[in-house]
Amino acid sequence: MRKISIFGATGSIGQNTIDLILRAPNDYDVVALTGGANIAQLAQDAIALRADIAVTAFEDRLPDLRAALAGSDVAAAAGQAALTEAAARPADWVMSAIVGAAGLAPGLEALKQGATLALANKESLVCAGALLLETAKTHNARLLPVDSEHSAVFQGLAGEDITAVERVIITASGGAFRDWPMADLRAATVAQASSHPNWDMGQRITIDSASMFNKALEVIETREFFDVAPEQIEVVVHPESIVHALVGFRDGALMAHLGAPDMRHAIGYALHWPDRRELPVDRLDLARLAQLTFRAPDPARYPALQLAYDVMARRGLMGAVFNAAKERALDHFIAGRIGFLDMADIVARVLVQFDSGDRGLDEAMTLDTVRQIDHLARIEADNVILDHVR
Ligand code: NAD
Ligand code: MG
Repeated sequence: MRKISIFGATGSIGQNTIDLILRAPNDYDVVALTGGANIAQLAQDAIALRADIAVTAFEDRLPDLRAALAGSDVAAAAGQAALTEAAARPADWVMSAIVGAAGLAPGLEALKQGATLALANKESLVCAGALLLETAKTHNARLLPVDSEHSAVFQGLAGEDITAVERVIITASGGAFRDWPMADLRAATVAQASSHPNWDMGQRITIDSASMFNKALEVIETREFFDVAPEQIEVVVHPESIVHALVGFRDGALMAHLGAPDMRHAIGYALHWPDRRELPVDRLDLARLAQLTFRAPDPARYPALQLAYDVMARRGLMGAVFNAAKERALDHFIAGRIGFLDMADIVARVLVQFDSGDRGLDEAMTLDTVRQIDHLARIEADNVILDHVR
């Protein structure tokens, strides 16, 4: 039996992972499940999967979690330190599906105990790619992509020589507003930005898809995961979300990965890798689909995309600044304090502040320096936003 843990078990990726695990429960020995405020879901899944421990990120919810687990053998814990402790429990395979920079510390801890880390939490790679990769190397652990585009690239690279790769193309659906007139975008609401045409995901990544910040994070994720140069990474808008990514080789060949928009494919691939097992995803009927369309992303509509290239030019801790500023801008958009198009403006201004000032951007990358710069970038983003709403 493989020992597994799921971080962010109550979210969209976490629930899809559990769906796969529950189809073959005898194959897995579940160590830890973690969640946030949805205590009922966390407890229900921990009991169903016979987990050793369930952890909520929120300390004040410990009594609720204890009550929900009463009568079962599942231990309860709460708080950020408990999350990291749970990640230190030996496991063969760990799903990293917390949303945001909060996923970094547990991910690092899982790598330190040698686990294979299935990485949905792209933010940790954007914040601290070099640190994650180095930690994996030191502890003989492995990182596997779960983001659909990166899983597709990874599959496209199997058996290939990375030096023969000319370019990597990741696709973007274009999100909720891809066909909206530009003039309407300024007034787009949170509710409108929270519905995705093709994928069913958590609210934050859904809004990031509409703004293209999600793709910006994924461009950086591509750079970190596959060590390709920024100028080799392209984004193409593909409204049908059937082609997830393409790898271009120096002989001109393009290898595309196609599949139904269902995260259980990428999760299942990472779960069973290096095997391919049967998965409960829809099979494509190409004749019925009839056509697939592609177009270049409009930089005026998606200013976030260029920011990813600015961040990659600077590298180091700039990724942590970018992610933190993006998280704060998104918080303020969700809270109704700023408009949809303000998010990219605010993040751009924070990047400029850090690029020009002496803010510790050139320090060596450790968990502490990443946390420090993340903290400073959030404060800077809040200041820029205060300035903006005034
Ligand atoms: P979600 O909002 O549905 O779930 C997030 C999970 O993280 C929940 O379990 C929540 O309780 C937990 N969480 C939230 N804040 C936390 C904190 N501060 N500390 C600890 N735990 C916390 O999000 P999701 O859509 O499942 O996305 C999870 C991750 O996977 C994100 O990094 C996202 O970018 C990535 N991802 C998601 C999809 C998708 O289809 N949903 C696809 C590709 C990548
Ligand atoms: Mg993706």
